[in-house]
Amino acid sequence: MTRVVNFGAGPCTLPLEVLEAARDEFVDYHGAGMSLIEMSHRSAAYDAVHEGAMSLARSVFEVPDDVDVLFLQGGASLQFAMVPMNLLHGGAAGGYVVTGTWGRTARADAAHHGAVYTAWSGEDGGFVRVPDPGEIAVSAGTRYLHVTSNETINGVRFPDFPDVGVPLVADMSSDFVSRRIPWDRFDLVYGGAQKNLGPAGVTVVFVRSSTLEGTNRDLAAYLRYDVHRTARSLYNTPPVFAVYMMGKVLQWMADRGGLDAIEAAAAEKAGILYGAIDASGGFYRNPVVPEHRSLMNVVFRLPSAELEAAFLAGAAPRRLSGLKGHRSVGGVRASIYNAMPVDGVAALAAYMADFRAANE
Ligand SMILES: *Cc1c(COP(=O)(O)O)cnc(C)c1O
Repeated sequence: MTRVVNFGAGPCTLPLEVLEAARDEFVDYHGAGMSLIEMSHRSAAYDAVHEGAMSLARSVFEVPDDVDVLFLQGGASLQFAMVPMNLLHGGAAGGYVVTGTWGRTARADAAHHGAVYTAWSGEDGGFVRVPDPGEIAVSAGTRYLHVTSNETINGVRFPDFPDVGVPLVADMSSDFVSRRIPWDRFDLVYGGAQKNLGPAGVTVVFVRSSTLEGTNRDLAAYLRYDVHRTARSLYNTPPVFAVYMMGKVLQWMADRGGLDAIEAAAAEKAGILYGAIDASGGFYRNPVVPEHRSLMNVVFRLPSAELEAAFLAGAAPRRLSGLKGHRSVGGVRASIYNAMPVDGVAALAAYMADFRAANE
């Protein structure tokens, strides 16, 4: 098999070593006579997987002791509801900074479960930047300010997180473990695993322990963060395979030097593609304010819809896959998450140069 270079936005490419290791132990897990996915989630074997992934999540993300780690299901999408359900009881308000499509969805979902307002929106400008802290309007009685650290569809990223006097809540689905988190500013951080951490099925939530003391108890058990914390994320059957795979990906990240190495690799890979765009004399165009460009999702346009279609068609024979922009915005999008090798990005940059030379 020749693997493609998979620029898919999610689910996305995972390290080959991890896939091979999972294959090798899939049918007979460590001599148990059954696979891990057939085994009780209360077994000693699964417990080791669960606790191992938990402790790796703590160490790779450099999580302080006063922050709890939860493994949930339902994706980032369920967190759009769980965050306000748990945090906005008693009339508190949630402010939302809308820097792209996902932030807009988070705000719309939250409005079903609490008093929410838009503290800043980049929609009229076409989602091409994040606000300066001074542009964010925080109302009195605000419990948290919600931000999307990286907007996956629009390719917009917060280079620094705003300090506006209220705790932050962040959707980090698409740049998890690619950057340091200033934990003291956050009450809660969440993300689905399927972009930087593993397969779909597990959602990681980091929540400040003191925050859990004040969350809403008047909710169905599964919707309560405190229930999951007390049960060590084993309140009900966890997504065992997804947790197992995520543990392997986290180990792979730790082996490669952890956050520092991953952060440096992300900057290098994004730099190659933005370099190719910026050196193209306007043939390739990225609309985002340069300092706010995503390091994970590089979006760009070509001079015409015909050239965009030809570019995407020509990528396939070079085994460059998953480059079509999100259906809501069109164009081209290269998602270059943690498991994307530099070689893959270099292959795309080479194709961009060849395509431009042939079509300019
Ligand atoms: C993919 C994505 C989501 C949706 O995640 P699900 O796990 O599919 O619910 C939400 N926010 C961001 C920033 C994303 O990239």
